[in-house]
Amino acid sequence: MEHHSGGSGTNKNKQMVEQLQRYGVISSKKVVEVMETIDRALFVPDGTPAYVDSPMAIGYNATISAPHMHATCLQLLEENLQPGMHALDVGSGTGYLTACFATMVGPQGRAIGVEHIPELVASSIKNIEKSAAASLLKGGSLSVHAGDGREGWPEHAPYDAIHVGAAAPEIPQPLIDQLKPGGRMVIPVGKIFQDLQVVDKNLDGSVSIRSETAVRYVPLTSRDAQLKGY
Ligand code: SAH
Repeated sequence: MEHHSGGSGTNKNKQMVEQLQRYGVISSKKVVEVMETIDRALFVPDGTPAYVDSPMAIGYNATISAPHMHATCLQLLEENLQPGMHALDVGSGTGYLTACFATMVGPQGRAIGVEHIPELVASSIKNIEKSAAASLLKGGSLSVHAGDGREGWPEHAPYDAIHVGAAAPEIPQPLIDQLKPGGRMVIPVGKIFQDLQVVDKNLDGSVSIRSETAVRYVPLTSRDAQLKGY
């Protein structure tokens, strides 16, 4: 439960962002701005505590990532989310990060979410419609699609930024192919023990990969495997 006399939800969202700054998770002003603009409460199921720093179940054996993971990924991708750039969010779930990406790349950019559970695609669109990113959805620079994100979304490739919100046993080749030279992908890789990997495509097309931190995400898998509980 939230015990601050914070008033409105937007204030509580702001307090959550301030806490992430105090803990040293967020140092970027752009990330502060976007996380203040997109109210997390609009993206969690009714009755779920929105501002607690923990992942939450969203149905279909999926979760919304914890605020500190969203912040970490936004910060790792910040330079590749500048106005006019193209961003792909694989396993977009609630649509929270897709909305953040769309806000950062702006109406001249492009933010694409790909999610393989059609019900989550539908609810994420409803969430985004209530958020500060609604006009971007309406204007067409933000869209969410049902599909297998392991194939990426070739239509708007190449991407400056690719985020994968579920852990892959290995990095899917189509995602590497759809990364622009100079582009960056952030992807959890591994089965039970996973690393958040940062994949930079160099200007000559080669890739450099480093591990940022140990993480625990739901798997990037087939819809059947996920609905059966893996
Ligand atoms: N970033 C999202 C994370 C949701 S959890 C959020 O914070 O809301 C990971 C999501 O990946 C789930 O919604 C799951 O349904 C989806 N997913 C798993 N495998 C997938 C695949 N092969 N293609 C597309 N989406 C997938």
